[in-house]
Amino acid sequence: MSDTDSHEAETPSLRTPIVAVLGHVDHGKTSLLDKIRGSTVIEGEAGAITQHIGATAVPLDIVSKVAGKLVNPDDFDLPGLLFIDTPGHHSFTTLRSRGGALADIAILVVDVNDGFQPQTEEAINILAQSQTPFVVAANKIDTTPGWNPNPDSPIQGTYDAQSERARSMLDQNLYELIGELSDAGFSADLYWRVQNFQNNVGVVPVSAETGEGVPDLLTVLMGLAQRYMREDMEIDVTGPGAGTVLEVKEEKGFGTTLDVVLYDGTVGADETVVVGGKNEPIVTDVRALLKPRPLAEIRTEDRFEKVDSIGAAAGVKIAAPDLGDAMAGAPVRVVRDREIDDVIEEVEAELAEVEVSTAEEG
Ligand code: GDP
Repeated sequence: MSDTDSHEAETPSLRTPIVAVLGHVDHGKTSLLDKIRGSTVIEGEAGAITQHIGATAVPLDIVSKVAGKLVNPDDFDLPGLLFIDTPGHHSFTTLRSRGGALADIAILVVDVNDGFQPQTEEAINILAQSQTPFVVAANKIDTTPGWNPNPDSPIQGTYDAQSERARSMLDQNLYELIGELSDAGFSADLYWRVQNFQNNVGVVPVSAETGEGVPDLLTVLMGLAQRYMREDMEIDVTGPGAGTVLEVKEEKGFGTTLDVVLYDGTVGADETVVVGGKNEPIVTDVRALLKPRPLAEIRTEDRFEKVDSIGAAAGVKIAAPDLGDAMAGAPVRVVRDREIDDVIEEVEAELAEVEVSTAEEG
């Protein structure tokens, strides 16, 4: 390829950072994801919410509406946030991209009354090992005795409106949590006191039940991504797609399908892809690219909508022949104008790494 060609072929653009949610069982991971989805769907009634497979996209304008005066959209050029819908560290460790974690940022959910629990420790070790930046959602602040909820309010407003007793009980829980983070080797503080999120972990008090603090959480994630991850988000939007299999699923009318998170480039509805398989990479032609139909249009037979192509970052379902041996966590690559053997080799190399890392976890 000549120099001019390669310049024409490369159209760098910014993709959406991918966010994962981790934490101890029952500390509120699922509720928090539901809350984020719920509040952003309400704000996005005009149709700004894009439906994804296995993930929820929250565009910048919705982040800014939910966050109110906490976020000025002019300060950002990243397009928003993409939350992986499956919480937990099993999903986090399975989902990798080019040797790293698929998620660019994580939310570590900790029940503010319960503090650190075994799976909190596990999650924090995994985050440290993969060097994934994270924020701590100190969840269930509404269960503080005497708490008067102010639904969906930023934390400062609702905190100031509480009784002195409730405030001091919450303070005490938060300081204990900050102490536990410090014992685990992370210098942490309440997020509004953190100057440099590269050196310090921000703690955001939230309630997945009432939505209090959720505006702050979205603000901190967006700010962290914009400030420290912008360069990593520069991708060649038109390049051959790269993604990771979330799930292998049978779908009526489509046979075996792959739910994929695409983190680079594009995939087209008629392209050849290489997918990691149980024994060897699978080479197959995409038969259909599917997105969920908007809720209002769902008919029982027709849950999916076919699209011609899709660009990163996004969650998409791929229907193709011969996917029986595909595995969750496996890489997916669009071949396009490359040598098929090179792409197979790339997939094999990455698969070897996934297997090694799974073995290490025991
Ligand atoms: P997960 O196992 O981490 O996904 O936890 P869930 O989201 O399933 O939550 C566990 C329980 O805690 C459920 O009964 C939730 O309704 C409850 N819960 C989660 N977040 C909150 C919160 O902020 N406040 C209150 N009061 N309950 C919560």
